[in-house]
Amino acid sequence: MSIGVDIVRGQAIQVKGNGDQLDQLNIMTDSRKLVVNGLFVPLVGETFNGHQFLMKAIENGAKAALWMEREPIPEALPKDFPLFLVGDTLTALQSMAKAYLNQCRPKVVAVTGSNGKTTTKDMIYSIVSRVFKAYKTQGNYNNHIGLPLTILSMPADTQVLILEMGMNHFGELTFLSQLAKPDIAIITNIGESHIEFLGSRAGIAKAKLEMTNGLKKHGSLIIDGDEPLLNQVKTNAFQIIKCGYNPDNDWSITDVKEGTDGYRFSLNHGLNVYTVPVLGRHNVKNAVYSLTAARLLNINPQSIITGLEHLSLTKMRFEKVAGISGSLLINDCYNASPTSMKASLETLKVLPGFDKRVAVLGDMYELGSDEKALHRSVADVLKAPITHVITIGGRGAWIAEPLLEAGAADLTVKSFQEKADARAYLASLLDASTVMLFKASRALALEELVNDLSESK
Ligand code: ATP
Ligand code: MG
Repeated sequence: MSIGVDIVRGQAIQVKGNGDQLDQLNIMTDSRKLVVNGLFVPLVGETFNGHQFLMKAIENGAKAALWMEREPIPEALPKDFPLFLVGDTLTALQSMAKAYLNQCRPKVVAVTGSNGKTTTKDMIYSIVSRVFKAYKTQGNYNNHIGLPLTILSMPADTQVLILEMGMNHFGELTFLSQLAKPDIAIITNIGESHIEFLGSRAGIAKAKLEMTNGLKKHGSLIIDGDEPLLNQVKTNAFQIIKCGYNPDNDWSITDVKEGTDGYRFSLNHGLNVYTVPVLGRHNVKNAVYSLTAARLLNINPQSIITGLEHLSLTKMRFEKVAGISGSLLINDCYNASPTSMKASLETLKVLPGFDKRVAVLGDMYELGSDEKALHRSVADVLKAPITHVITIGGRGAWIAEPLLEAGAADLTVKSFQEKADARAYLASLLDASTVMLFKASRALALEELVNDLSESK
């Protein structure tokens, strides 16, 4: 990582001590992490100041650190320990990432959207890494800190870098996209997440389209063409490729066949049949975004087909788990918004071969002042063949309200305040004819219930 550091130093950063040992640096912002040959980057937040943890970072392998000029230097600092003095450590981290990216010059694919970012990123990686040296965002490192850290952890010979970009506010995606300068940008969908900061779904679409502000000249934008807020966009500045189920998309999905482990589908162009071994109809769309990106990178159709077939995804996204008494549990607990919850419920309805279809749904957060109505809106899709709806938490109970008001006779509806209260009842529903879906916001950690009810417990 000496390249990035050298360039920052070139931009008038003063060096205190001896910086010669900086070859092969790893970058870390968390002093508790063990990193061999690490450059410690102390960040300052509202409630913490990383500068206080320099000695801990040194214990854990730091060989140098960035340091804000205004911060006092600890007296206990070893004599020759190099400190790079900067005005602001976060800005320095971001400039280092920019500089390093400029040196390595991989093709950059950036994925944003309200739902499906991590899944699509993983799918693209699965295809691209068979052909190119590829690197992708690890976990959810998708913001103004995570993105530079991702870039700086990329091997220098990376040919394709696949980045997840998240945002809560206007301006954030402009910043991330101008930092990473994507060749290919993808907007997977427009949901309701972070509507409290962005005002409306139209606001969300506008904020997502900021992704194009850093798109390279002659770059491509791949969008959810089924979304009216996106498919009206017109420009000569870059190519737009619309993907989805509507027949007027550039790439429209035809002949979807659902199996027990995923889907087979074709597209309006060409005769290829693609297999995507994950459940959830939305994943067919994520697969189409991914294969479109792969085609733009000139990957041949056979490699694309093989890459999709051998997908391995980050956990807790519509993950199948063997439940007690021969039942099937679906762990979709990673996160939830009304859009993603409805998408998962549609899939629960069409899984072949189950008499009992149970939806275990919990609180969804960050939905702003409309949160009650947005929870209630999920009830619209809670219909046969779903047989049981069990809600967890105070907000989760709002999902059940319209069902109880309407007295839906063919549906058993129960609400529990806590996960633990629901456990015994859920266990009583499980047998070989049951599929049980679990979905809620991350904070609820609903996967604890999945673990309790799994066969391997
Ligand atoms: P986060 O913002 O939390 O990082 P993410 O955008 O990375 O989320 P994923 O982790 O890929 O999203 O998927 C989360 C959930 O969103 C999935 O479990 C699924 O229910 C739903 N989902 C995935 N793709 C789509 C899509 N294209 N449209 C609607 N819902 C989707
Ligand atoms: Mg994600």
